Amino acid sequence: MASAATLAAATSSLLRRSSPLLLRRPHGLRISRDVAPRRIGGSKKQETRTRNLELPVPRSVRHIASSTNEESAARAAAETADTGGPTIFDKIIAKQIPSNIVYEDEKVLAFRDINPQAPVHVLVIPKLRDGLTGLDKAEPRHAEILGQLLYAAKVVAEKEGVADGFRVVINNGEEGCQSVYHLHVHVLGGRQMKWPPG
Ligand code: 5GP
Repeated sequence: MASAATLAAATSSLLRRSSPLLLRRPHGLRISRDVAPRRIGGSKKQETRTRNLELPVPRSVRHIASSTNEESAARAAAETADTGGPTIFDKIIAKQIPSNIVYEDEKVLAFRDINPQAPVHVLVIPKLRDGLTGLDKAEPRHAEILGQLLYAAKVVAEKEGVADGFRVVINNGEEGCQSVYHLHVHVLGGRQMKWPPG
C-alpha cells in the first residue's frame, strides 16, 4: 500500500498539473476553520491541514484559487458595501456561527480566517463597527479603536509565535479586494512574505 508521503506527493503533483478550471475550484480542499496551524517537529516551519484529506495543499494552488475568488467576492461585496447592513462578522461576534478565536478583549475580537493565505492568518476586528465598514470611513473619533486593532494584531502575532516576522493587511474597497464590509486587519505569518503583494 502507498505510504501517506507518496500519496501526498502524488496529489500535489496532480494539482499542479490540473486544468485552470480545477485550479479555480479546488473542491474538497477547503481549509478547515477548526484546524489551527501546527508546528512540525518543533521547527519554525508550519503547515495547514485540510479537513477532508489531511494532505498539505500546495500554496500555489491556494493562491491562484483564492485570488480569483477574492476578486469576484470583492466585486459582489462592493455592490452593497456602504449600506451599512450586517455582515458575517456580526454573526461571528454574536457567536451565532462558530469561529476559531485567538484573542478577545472588550473592544476587539481576533479569529482565524476561514480561507487562510499563510500558516498563520488571523482577522482582527472591532466588536462595534461604529460606521467602520472600511478604513476609508475612519474619522478622528475612531483613532482609539484603530490603535487598539493594531495593538491587538501585535498581541496575536506574539501569541501565534510569529512576532519576529509577520504582515498586517487592511484591504479597502473593491480595488483593494475587500469582501467583508466590517473593518478588519489581516495578520499573516509563518512563511516568507513576498513584495510587492498581488
Ligand atoms: P477581505 O477580503 O474583506 O479583506 O477579507 C475578508 C476575509 O474574511 C477573507 O479573508 C475571508 O476568508 C474571511 N471570511 C469570510 N467569511 C468568513 C467566515 O465566515 N469565517 C471566517 N473565519 N472568516 C471569513
